[in-house]
Parts: sequence; C-alpha cells; structure tokens
Amino acid sequence: MGTLTTSLSQDGSIRIIFSQSTSIVTEAQRIHRLSKTATAALGRALTATSIMASTLKNVTDSLTLQIKGDGPLGTILCVGEADGCVRGYVARPETELPLNAKGKFDVGGAVGAGQLYVIKDMGLNKPYVGVSNLISGEIAEDIAEYYAVSEQIPTVCALGVRVAETGECIGAGGFLLQLMPFADKGLIPKIEENISSLESISLMIAKGESVESILKKIYKDIAFDILDSCEAKYRCNCSKDKYAAALITLGEKELREMTEDNEPIEARCNFCDTKYIFSTEEMKELLEYAVRKNE
Ligand SMILES: [Zn+2]
Repeated sequence: MGTLTTSLSQDGSIRIIFSQSTSIVTEAQRIHRLSKTATAALGRALTATSIMASTLKNVTDSLTLQIKGDGPLGTILCVGEADGCVRGYVARPETELPLNAKGKFDVGGAVGAGQLYVIKDMGLNKPYVGVSNLISGEIAEDIAEYYAVSEQIPTVCALGVRVAETGECIGAGGFLLQLMPFADKGLIPKIEENISSLESISLMIAKGESVESILKKIYKDIAFDILDSCEAKYRCNCSKDKYAAALITLGEKELREMTEDNEPIEARCNFCDTKYIFSTEEMKELLEYAVRKNE
C-alpha cells in the first residue's frame, strides 16, 4: 500500500505532501505491461496525481492530470480522487528509449513538448481546467510550472521512480512543496538548493528510509509537524453499469449499427484493463432504452 503524508512547517509557511507510491507504480506496471521508460513516466504522473488530488476538499471531487506531449509515449492521463487513490494510462506503454546523458530514464524525450492540463471536477456545472506548457517533459518541473503559472502558488515538486534491471519497480515516490501566501518567496531557491544536494527520493525509498526521515532532510533546519498520513492505492471505479450508461449515450443510430451483425460487443477499461462483454440481448436492451429516451 502506498502512503500519503501531509506535513506543515511549524511557522505555517511551508506545506509538503509526500507520497510513497511504489505499490501504485507496481500495480500500474502489472495492468499496462509498461516498458522501463513508460514505468518512470506514468509512475511519476500517478504519484503527482495522487498528491494533487489529496488537496481536493470533498470526497466526491476528482482531479485529472493530462500530459499531452508530442513524444513517442503519447498522452499520459491520470485520475485521482480526494483520498489520494489513482488510476492512469499512457498511450504507448511499450515505448522504450535509451538512458539520457545523466544515465536516467529519458522521460523528457519520451513525453516531448506540449501542454499539461489539470481538470478538477468538484461537482459544479463546469469543471475547473488549468493549463501550462511543458518545460522539460520530465513531469516534476512541469507540475511546479503549472502551479506557478496557472494557480500562482510557488511550488517545488520532486518525483522519482526506480526500476531494477529486471524491470521491477523498487522505489517510487515524490513530494509537492508549496508556500503559503504570506511566506517569503526567497525560501524556494534555498529549498531547491537543499533538495539538489540530497540523494534522489526514489533511492531513499528503495533503501527503506522512513517518510519522516526523508521529510527531515527536505525541511533541513525548519521545524515541522506531520498533520496526516493515509494509505493510497491504484484504484479503478469502472463497472459494467457505467459502460452500459456510456453505450446508451452513443444514441440510437450508432447502437443499431452495433447490434446489426448480432455479435457481442466488447468494451475494455483503459485504466484497469477489465473487459466487459455485452451480449446481443443486452445490446438490444440498451438500444430499446436509447429509443425510449429519445421519445
Ligand atoms: Zn477500470
């Protein structure tokens, strides 16, 4: 099980939400058969989404992170709920690139240039949509840029996924550090400098270091409290009923075409790979329902 830990500096000026997401990334690998590069890319995006979604106010709220780059990986899409549980997929999970000049997974090259979208569905008529340009495609920097540009919150983001030679994810996690409106903006470069001198987050997690001990290194000489710690996992909420409802919205004409050859219809969930089969009888029922709805 992954954990999400919310902490606050004792003067109230800095909040850090930390995610230990190894099990979430492992589950994503199992479902999507990800290459190593795709594991790093989707793993970072899932970790960020879990953290970002945990800041939503109501349990029914959700947050979608869409990274639309022009690289070989294609679009990455993740959805998180207010309890920090997430699901996601990447368009081309088999994409593998050589390591970059720093000897790391070339997530930036795999993602490419483009935009990052954040869609918050808070049960209102219209969801909130924010967008920013991708800075490097490495995801953590892109998320920090999004908060700075779109929400005007000074932010530091670090995300890491460590993959063994065998392909197994051995450590994943990251954090989002944000300054409160009254805080001294000069703190950001100081914190960034401190973080750049630390070991990578994924290595600390792979070594089994505790969240509290990692937080102590990030806050360095700033006193802080842990406010909350909860479990977060990879979770999809699809069901056959939801797919039936989606099929009905296709409308009478399309449903009639789909039932014409008397073959069952197969729908597959992008997030969890569950297959739903609608028999010809079930399809005819859906068609009848769509016809009645139109009358
Ligand atoms: Zn699903």
